[in-house]
Amino acid sequence: HSPIHVIGGGLAGSEAAWQIAEAGVPVILHEMRGVRGTDAHKTESLAELVCSNSFRSDDATSNAVGVLHAEMRLAGSLIMRCADLNQVPAGGALAVDREGFAEAVSAAIADHPLITVLREEIRGLPPRDWDLAIIATGPLTAPDLAEAIRAETGADALAFFDAIAPIVHADTIDMDICWHQSRYDKVGPGGTGKDYINCPLTQEQYDAFVDALIAGDKAGFKEWEGTPYFDGCLPIEVMAERGRETLRHGPMKPMGLTNAHNPSVKPYAVVQLRQDNALGTLYNMVGFQTKLKYGAQGEVFRMIPGLQNAEFARLGGLHRNTYINSPTLLDHSLTLKSRPGLRFAGQITGCEGYVESASIGLLAGRFAAAERKGASPVLPPVTTAFGALLDHITGGHIVSDDEPGKRSFQPMNINFGLFPPLEPGALTRPEGAKRFRGKEKALAKKQAMASRALSDCASWLDQAV
Ligand code: FAD
Repeated sequence: HSPIHVIGGGLAGSEAAWQIAEAGVPVILHEMRGVRGTDAHKTESLAELVCSNSFRSDDATSNAVGVLHAEMRLAGSLIMRCADLNQVPAGGALAVDREGFAEAVSAAIADHPLITVLREEIRGLPPRDWDLAIIATGPLTAPDLAEAIRAETGADALAFFDAIAPIVHADTIDMDICWHQSRYDKVGPGGTGKDYINCPLTQEQYDAFVDALIAGDKAGFKEWEGTPYFDGCLPIEVMAERGRETLRHGPMKPMGLTNAHNPSVKPYAVVQLRQDNALGTLYNMVGFQTKLKYGAQGEVFRMIPGLQNAEFARLGGLHRNTYINSPTLLDHSLTLKSRPGLRFAGQITGCEGYVESASIGLLAGRFAAAERKGASPVLPPVTTAFGALLDHITGGHIVSDDEPGKRSFQPMNINFGLFPPLEPGALTRPEGAKRFRGKEKALAKKQAMASRALSDCASWLDQAV
């Protein structure tokens, strides 16, 4: 076989390259870091995680991203294998040691006999003699390539900004004020129920903190005003601006936590920090993505009880996000309609998140390898997490009421809302259960969708091989 070219060695590109090579087809992986960096990446490692170290819930029985984890494991995902090998405790979530994870991915790719890594920036669309190629250059696609994509598609690639959360040196957190506890003492894989560090705030402290956040000096506020942030990644000060109580009902909610130093007094609000590396020396401030200026971040975040002497390993920041209007531009196997043989994968297709990006890389890699072998790509059924996400990206969009004919396409994390409804009668009241409504029914529905997804995924993989 002649090689398939993959552009971008991030979460999606590394997974795509791995899947192609495992199918017996040679790959050339072009990654620019080493020659040119991005605003968010800090290293030259493949699959570097630019922000949180969490792959989110690992619960494959009732959580959509947990189901996606499980499907990826079934499909021999490199990203999941390396994540599992580099896990750090994080309640019910799968979190990883970011360096160990990226090093494991880099080593596996470097050692694969069918993969060649070239450190170079690709400045335009792949040349025509690269008959099969995948663009997986992510939210921070270098400008020349972004421009070339825009010229080819004719549709505007949308650019906006995401925010990253600060990371604190654990030994600078005051444990006479803070305590270790997971919300509701939840014990996840490798966890203890005490995985997070919690900082308690009284109402007075909370009010002062919210005021300082709103007053704090922001970077480039004017330039990015009106930016359509994803709701899951709102800068903390933007949340604070939405209302005094917003943070207390969001990342600073005190529920499920008891102050170990003062159990009888319920904190008014809590800041949680999650372990960020295997050694447990770094903790990230959960939900504290920010566009505050560096100086202001130090001042404002040290107002949090327990963080008065905090030293930051990395402060929060703002970064660009680029994605294409996939439902219009791509076919169901992720190929650009105007250029047969050219696929897109990862966040640039309009999925959101590490796991989602890697999973779309996995699919693009398998589809390209099938094509190289002269077979038609077999699409995963929409009842699987793979299929539901692929369908979100490549079709199945609601036409908006006020603009007939216009598809509404927003980047999205995997969620059960993207899965087709269950067959009528699929849910039966569990034996001996008195009631089967509300929460019980919602949980049963998720469980049924999860088990349907996993069994359909196994059948798809049998068929697709
Ligand atoms: P990337 O992992 O970014 O990989 C793209 C690769 O392509 C990079 O290595 C880049 O160097 C390379 N590249 C770019 N242009 C070229 C070129 N012209 N030639 C050659 N190589 C090129 N998701 C989460 O789940 N959790 C988070 O906390 C989170 N935080 C984020 C914070 C920021 C600041 C950003 C920008 C995104 C964040 N995301 C997060 C979203 C997203 O999941 C990640 O960006 C993820 O890494 C996307 O995977 P990808 O493979 O599509 O892109």
